[in-house]
Amino acid sequence: MVEKTDSKKVAQRQAMPEQKPEIRRRNFEEVPVGYTMEQAMAEASRCLQCKKPGCVEGCPVSVDIPGFINCITKGDMTGAIRNLWGKNSLPAVCGRVCPQEIQCEGNCIMGKKGEPIAIGNLERFTADYERIQGSGELPPKEKPTGKKVAVVGSGPSGLTVAGDLVRKGHDVTVLEAFHKPGGVLVYGIPEFRLPKEIVFSEVAFLERLGAKVECNQVVGRTVSLDELFAEGYDAVYLGVGAGLPKFMNIPGENLIGILSANEYLTRANLMKAYQYPKVDTPIPRGKNVVVLGAGNVAMDSARTAMRLGADTVRIVYRRSREEMPARKAEIHHAGEEGIEFCLLTAPTKFVGNDKGRLTGMECLRMELGEPDASGRRRPIPIKGSEFMMECDLVIVAVGAGANPLLTQTTPDLSLNKWGYIMADLETGKTTKKGVWAGGDIVTGSATVILAMGAGRKAADSIHKYLTWGW
Ligand SMILES: Cc1cc2nc3c(=O)[nH]c(=O)nc-3n(C[C@H](O)[C@H](O)[C@H](O)COP(=O)(O)OP(=O)(O)OC[C@H]3O[C@@H](n4cnc5c(N)ncnc54)[C@H](O)[C@@H]3O)c2cc1C
Ligand code: SF4
Repeated sequence: MVEKTDSKKVAQRQAMPEQKPEIRRRNFEEVPVGYTMEQAMAEASRCLQCKKPGCVEGCPVSVDIPGFINCITKGDMTGAIRNLWGKNSLPAVCGRVCPQEIQCEGNCIMGKKGEPIAIGNLERFTADYERIQGSGELPPKEKPTGKKVAVVGSGPSGLTVAGDLVRKGHDVTVLEAFHKPGGVLVYGIPEFRLPKEIVFSEVAFLERLGAKVECNQVVGRTVSLDELFAEGYDAVYLGVGAGLPKFMNIPGENLIGILSANEYLTRANLMKAYQYPKVDTPIPRGKNVVVLGAGNVAMDSARTAMRLGADTVRIVYRRSREEMPARKAEIHHAGEEGIEFCLLTAPTKFVGNDKGRLTGMECLRMELGEPDASGRRRPIPIKGSEFMMECDLVIVAVGAGANPLLTQTTPDLSLNKWGYIMADLETGKTTKKGVWAGGDIVTGSATVILAMGAGRKAADSIHKYLTWGW
């Protein structure tokens, strides 16, 4: 049955209050300020409580969206957070960074004639309410099983596995290579989109539930997978992400002033260069910055460079705006903050001075041809269209691949031709007994919620294995 929506009677979506662009472009505080209780209740009351909710079908982890929204309409915030936790251990993160416009909100019936329910904003509100003034009561947990699980990597997929298995009564330890947990949520996504405090509080929630988190543990170097089994672990989950940066492989790429987005964002975020002068982490501060690429990573790099004091920041992308892979909201925010978009443009070589420092970039104009294997129209260079673009810092954000560190020391794990771990997409089982994998290290760079969805399926499968065997 299709629910009736009378657009004349339907209240308007509550706008998210935000810091003004001219102010926020020079600070690292979060851009959206968050709903008030009144706004959240008003927004929640727009939901039609559909019998067959499209929003849930659009959610990769099947959150009971009408259920948690219904709790908000009654002011029952404990009910709302419990409902969210039932399917999602990281609601404050997902409410902020999930591509809701193509998932839950993209499938919301209200979007057919007007504006969809602001599901992401409500999820964020619920999680923030619990963090700041909630009951702090933990969800129920099963009796200890005596089984030990090692989760390698503390990104969203590893944290999901840890949360699900600890609630089933297993003894879970998360091993993380960096000195802080959170994966890309901490070292990649900047403070102004996802404050670190929020990620750490989600990790603290898992620790309160009983999961242990050990940082500075590079599995494959400090300890091998087989040593983990010898230490008494019954199962291992690999959620090590895909953090190996890719480069353009064009002349001049070794000049001083060219670095990967991965390095730039890690210095800015995890190593806290954004807190200068309180923290004095070295980071190149260009005046005329160019970012190559047009995904979320490129938007984050460009907006970080602007906040670190650049005069101009340009996104250089070889296709058109339509093909840009970043979330629409991020492109919009970047534009508002003064980031320029040089579209249908591709660099062909970098140029430097006699000290080996970058001074500019030679580019070619492009036009779009027929769609390629990715379904996007192929960029074709326009002959004789070469031109120079001056710049003193280039951040390369053209994708990332699998880091071979762990897999090189584990020869019995099968990899695909790109070096990603081969795992059953329904269970996460790898070719090595007792080892599961999921998230970016299996699919290649994807999204937080897909990494969490893979973690959830693997946690189910690991639980079955620990209960009934392989
Ligand atoms: C800058 C940036 C912005 C993004 N923005 C968004 C967004 O807005 N929305 C969205 O949905 N997605 C976004 N993504 C993608 C999303 O963050 C990833 O898809 C997601 O984090 C993948 O989760 P994961 O758990 O598989 O891996 P990761 O988050 O990469 O975590 C892997 C963890 O494993 C650790 N590790 C690696 N090797 C080892 C080892 N050998 N031993 C121990 N630990 C190890 C790493 O240090 C890391 O902490 C963004 C990505 C980046 C880089
Ligand atoms: S969020 Fe949208 S699709 Fe989901 S129950 Fe409410 S109105 Fe229906």
